[in-house]
Amino acid sequence: MVTQGALLEERTMSIDITLWGVRGSYAKPYDQKDLQEKNIDLIQAIRNTPTAYALFQQNAPVEEVLKAIDSKRTHTYGGHTSCYEMIVNERKLIFDVGLGGIKWGDYEIANGANGKTKPITADILMTHTHLDHNEAAGFIKPWFQKGHKFTILGIANANETVREAQRDYQDAKSGTATIVQSKGQEKIEAIRSVRPELAAAIEAIVREATAAGRPTSNTVEEVMIALSDKGLHPITWATRQGFGAEIQTIDLPLHPEGDILYIKDRYDTAGFRVGYQMSNHPDGCLSYRVETDASVGIYMGDGEHGPTLLSSRHPLIQKGVKQDRQPLMDPHFIKFIMGKDEAKKRKVIIADAHWTQKEYDTMPWIHGWGHSSAEQFLFTAAMAAKHAGNMPDNKIHVVLSHHDPNKSDRTLDKIAEELEQHVATKKLNGHPLDHYVTWELAREGRKINI
Ligand SMILES: [Zn+2]
Ligand SMILES: [Zn+2]
Repeated sequence: MVTQGALLEERTMSIDITLWGVRGSYAKPYDQKDLQEKNIDLIQAIRNTPTAYALFQQNAPVEEVLKAIDSKRTHTYGGHTSCYEMIVNERKLIFDVGLGGIKWGDYEIANGANGKTKPITADILMTHTHLDHNEAAGFIKPWFQKGHKFTILGIANANETVREAQRDYQDAKSGTATIVQSKGQEKIEAIRSVRPELAAAIEAIVREATAAGRPTSNTVEEVMIALSDKGLHPITWATRQGFGAEIQTIDLPLHPEGDILYIKDRYDTAGFRVGYQMSNHPDGCLSYRVETDASVGIYMGDGEHGPTLLSSRHPLIQKGVKQDRQPLMDPHFIKFIMGKDEAKKRKVIIADAHWTQKEYDTMPWIHGWGHSSAEQFLFTAAMAAKHAGNMPDNKIHVVLSHHDPNKSDRTLDKIAEELEQHVATKKLNGHPLDHYVTWELAREGRKINI
């Protein structure tokens, strides 16, 4: 007989996370300087670790010596741009396809039996259209093989506001926009009713872009087409669609109030759901949350807490909050991390920690680039843990990612040491931050199960 307890046990679902690419902005090749630093750090670590040094003196195999030292000294954070995987109940979700997407694709190919790749079905959930989140699109091997099925989901422009269109118009006028919005005559009609001259100007820009053969919209499919356009990649999207995997695209709507929306029907039968919300980033960016009955995996995408609220799609802007408002912690981020009735669930957040707080405070020119500091996210997650009632026995785990490509392994190791200090001393409600959170710096290839 199956008891209710056993049923509940069976339904408890975990999430398998793999970090395929953790660099922000652009790829970071491992160069001569990195190698030199790593060699020095490695030799020093052997010298300073008695067990390793003893093994070394005994002429033990090198692998044994390396195993005896702190694994920090033998790893690299990796140089591929954003790509994260979450597998839930055998459903494969890939978040962004920056260059880490190539590694994911290669893994899928290698994983096949008898030299044949197993048929792959996966959803690709795009946070936004910036290149560091989709630049692998032309190089993911399974996309070029028949027999696989992929669905790419991302932001549609159907819900853009008049304000967004106005910004597009300004961008186009100043020559900074490469993609002019055209999708949706409805939107232009809405603008025409309040600003006829603006509607006419947008139409003129769209006409000009169309005549010049430039993409005129940024639906998910059109972004994919643009990425493999003639002259950019030897195989165009249309050609690939002809012989490769079956790839569909879905444009996600946005919540008019800026709250969490859930992707409809798609994962219900698999027993989990995926919600998303707009974060504060130039051109907008989605954050995603994957919710099972026992775990929540959150990928925050790119986003900045303040001081400049960039995207006119950001809910605070839509509500008329002034751009010079400087929230240290974006309340939308806290709410998004908190969720509802999740105090008992295991929770991991992959967060955009491109900067350290010191960099953020001392380099005003980076304000408005759309990225946060590690300290901001640790505090935000601690606030969410406190408000959601996770404490004292369910800390939120924070994976700090989107590493600045200017930072070497040694620099990131040093930042990790400083953050260790920070979470032990910075207080929230009388407790240090490590009372609320555990954390790590994202490392390419790392696997986490929650
Ligand atoms: Zn990015
Ligand atoms: Zn971005």
